[in-house]
Amino acid sequence: MLTHECEAVVLAALDYGETDRIVTLFTREQGKIRAIARHGKKSVKRFSGALEIFARLRLHLVLKEGLSSLRGTDIVTVFPHIRNDLLKISYAGYACEVVDRLLPEAMCNPRLFRLLVSYLEQLEISPSRADDRRFFEVNLLNILGYRISLEQCSRCGADFGDSSGAVQYSSTGELLCSGCGNGGHQLSSVSRGLLKNALATGRFGVVRFPETSLREAGDVLDAAIASHLTRPLHSLQFLQHVLGVQPQ
Ligand SMILES: [Zn+2]
Repeated sequence: MLTHECEAVVLAALDYGETDRIVTLFTREQGKIRAIARHGKKSVKRFSGALEIFARLRLHLVLKEGLSSLRGTDIVTVFPHIRNDLLKISYAGYACEVVDRLLPEAMCNPRLFRLLVSYLEQLEISPSRADDRRFFEVNLLNILGYRISLEQCSRCGADFGDSSGAVQYSSTGELLCSGCGNGGHQLSSVSRGLLKNALATGRFGVVRFPETSLREAGDVLDAAIASHLTRPLHSLQFLQHVLGVQPQ
């Protein structure tokens, strides 16, 4: 059987039976796949004890339709600083679940792989910040083809131009002109500009959102992501709980 070598981030992992482990992997080379690791609960020799969410690994893998077979792993990093910090664990777990839920299986997406790895690296080396999460989300939606229309009304196509006025947004995170909106929530031109900058900048930590923009842009992004999901994210509830305990 042909063994593939891939680089991957573990998106989800659970025990299966007495000794095995089933993992959802985002591989750079093959996209998202599910695989079974025989003796994955205990075999430190083959799996380095690293079949845990958001670990970055090199894999030896036999690809199969449905459930692939994981033959061995080498650790690239388990992101030890993230694992020592509950808030960072919450952000990293959330990022992995969003990718898992929005990315179709077996669809190669090296740009999204780079974005996820960059976010995990940022969490590993920097204090956790809410605007890094928002930078991740706006770019994630863009890469997956769900880009928020920041320049034109999502309904009628009217150009927002460079006007300094606020625009409205719908319950599904679509930006609307004053004619199409129903007087609901507003996104200021400053916040809209910051979201545009976040899409134009390829690096974490460059675009910083002041508190008002963080709240407005966060509402738009939460609504946009929720509109593409069929059920709520477990990790989002956990993150919100941790943020409530430890405001950031
Ligand atoms: Zn309109």
